[in-house]
Amino acid sequence: MNILLTGGTGYIGSHTAVALAEAGHHVVLFDNFCNSQPDVAQRLHTLTGQALPLVEGDVRNTALLTHTLQAHQISAVIHFAGLKAVGESVAQPLDYYANNVQGSISLLQAMQAAQVNTLVFSSSATVYGEPHYLPLDETHPTAATNPYGRSKLHIEEILRDACAADPALRVLCLRYFNPVGAHASGLIGDNPRGVPNNLMPYLSRVAAGELPHVNVFGADYPTIDGTGVRDYIHVADLASGHLAALAHLAQRPGFDVINLGTGQGYSVLQMIDAFAAASGRPVPHRIVPRRAGDIAACYARPDKAARLLGWQATRTLQDMCRDTWHWQIRGAGHEQLEQLGSVPNLPPGNPQHSPHIP
Ligand code: NAD
Ligand code: UDP
Repeated sequence: MNILLTGGTGYIGSHTAVALAEAGHHVVLFDNFCNSQPDVAQRLHTLTGQALPLVEGDVRNTALLTHTLQAHQISAVIHFAGLKAVGESVAQPLDYYANNVQGSISLLQAMQAAQVNTLVFSSSATVYGEPHYLPLDETHPTAATNPYGRSKLHIEEILRDACAADPALRVLCLRYFNPVGAHASGLIGDNPRGVPNNLMPYLSRVAAGELPHVNVFGADYPTIDGTGVRDYIHVADLASGHLAALAHLAQRPGFDVINLGTGQGYSVLQMIDAFAAASGRPVPHRIVPRRAGDIAACYARPDKAARLLGWQATRTLQDMCRDTWHWQIRGAGHEQLEQLGSVPNLPPGNPQHSPHIP
């Protein structure tokens, strides 16, 4: 199948590109590089042995998208392209609605013009808002608490309306829980700019000695040890979930939403311990006040994905930490450390630095 990945050089898109190419699909990448680097395409070439076509463009450019869909005879789209920083969305809501909502409308218009009917959309567990019960299943009420989450909810509703109007459309919204980890090769991974907001890349920078300690945002939640609990899912499991989603859509027209999570929650302190063990390095922490807008616990009921997609996450917390650390010391994280003149002494047996990917 010829598949277009909008946001295909980003964190989740690049891992999904590898999984799709390995499964024999023809992948076309579409990205404006607002949060990724074009050299990801070379890394994907190294990993897959294929030169995946890469189109530089904004998803709001409907004409370019239409042309790309037609020129590459695309039969399905996975729509990763979007802005994703919650705090930034509060400060710049219009940018988020313009990019995420307008971008999705533009994509639907291009798909209509090019007669492409199959779409997988990157949604998020953030659409559940404050949980009324746990684990979160897909019938849990939705309630976004910030513009980023609201943009995802708006897009889901637009997609539902588009499916109601066009019986040929097939749309699956995948509500990701907390994607972490990296490709086992260490060639691709999450590369947040500046000081990371998310826990896992922060732990990684602390273990590397780039940041002094982790601030634990609150130890007075009603959880196992008082710290926040999340459903961390390995990005490679997430990638395979997209393959399963495409196979499912081939059988089933219409609109649906499915959680992609493991069903298992881990606390911040459990994450710190797991990362220290995986990296063999100390991960000092300090308890600080709660972060505004955070919830105590969030984890998925993953049964619908198992039932409809025949998919479930298989990678462990140890896998997630090991692969994040491998990416830190081999991938972009290591280059940043070099610039700071603080490259860690790599433990024996770890892969050596290779900043320039052929
Ligand atoms: P990412 O920022 O690494 O990737 C998104 C990619 O989209 C980037 O390469 C960026 O350059 C591109 N992009 C953004 N706006 C664009 C536009 N207008 N036109 C073309 N390209 C554009 O993010 P990610 O973590 O890979 O997330 C992918 C999707 O999954 C996003 O829609 C995000 O909201 C969603 N999601 C992510 C998480 C997470 O924690 N990473 C959780 C839930 C949902
Ligand atoms: N967290 C933390 N310190 C950090 C970053 C995150 O204690 O530097 C906590 C946060 O309060 C939450 C969990 O780690 O309980 C996961 O946070 P993240 O931002 O990664 O994901 P999200 O809150 O979006 O689920």
